[in-house]
Amino acid sequence: MVKIERSFPAPKSLAVEAQKSNGRYDCQDVIERLRSDFHNKCYICEMKDLQDPNVEHLLPHKNGKFPERKFDWGNLFWSCGHCNGIKNNSKYDEGILDCCKADPEKYMYFGLEGNEVIVNSFDSEDETLKRTGMLIMETFSLKNTGMRTYTSSERYKQLQKEMNLLYKQLEELHRSPESQIVIRIIQSLLRRESAFAAFKRCYIRRHAAEYPQLQQYVELEEPSGRLGAEQGNIR
Ligand SMILES: [Zn+2]
Repeated sequence: MVKIERSFPAPKSLAVEAQKSNGRYDCQDVIERLRSDFHNKCYICEMKDLQDPNVEHLLPHKNGKFPERKFDWGNLFWSCGHCNGIKNNSKYDEGILDCCKADPEKYMYFGLEGNEVIVNSFDSEDETLKRTGMLIMETFSLKNTGMRTYTSSERYKQLQKEMNLLYKQLEELHRSPESQIVIRIIQSLLRRESAFAAFKRCYIRRHAAEYPQLQQYVELEEPSGRLGAEQGNIR
């Protein structure tokens, strides 16, 4: 999960649809804007170029129980069907980190360790961050149905593949430390827009002593008190 810059004002259809008894929150202007703002990447698992994108509500609207959440532009997110399905569980009802308001990389560790995906909060007391970490880990490991066994391991395999691409380029960098081509490839692998960016960026940050020249590509958003307050319990 990486920081996303949500564009404003909200797509026009939302205000219009909110007035209808059976209004839609997924009109074309909403879809196009979400796809572009989120770089066509699921904000939870960070898989790219989604074939089955969903408009996900950060805080659930529960089929009309919370109508104000249904058409709220700030509550609409771009996710894959797999992650939307896993998040649709009452244990996530109180919400996860809003990556449009706070930079997840500032608060969380993202790692592929051995055969395990580990996503942890730096602040073990914070419930929102804990839920966020649990959700992201589940999207790579939950195997409670036949389909999820497949879709979770598919994400895990793709994450592994993406990390291997990074490791390969880092080896190249050891061999040719001056190569601008290698640096440029690594820089593009570390862009927030790229697949599984939080994991790759975290790896580089954790190996800062080994790769001081790459730290400029994994900088965090500047801390902002206002955003922290909007996020609720994120300090
Ligand atoms: Zn996903």
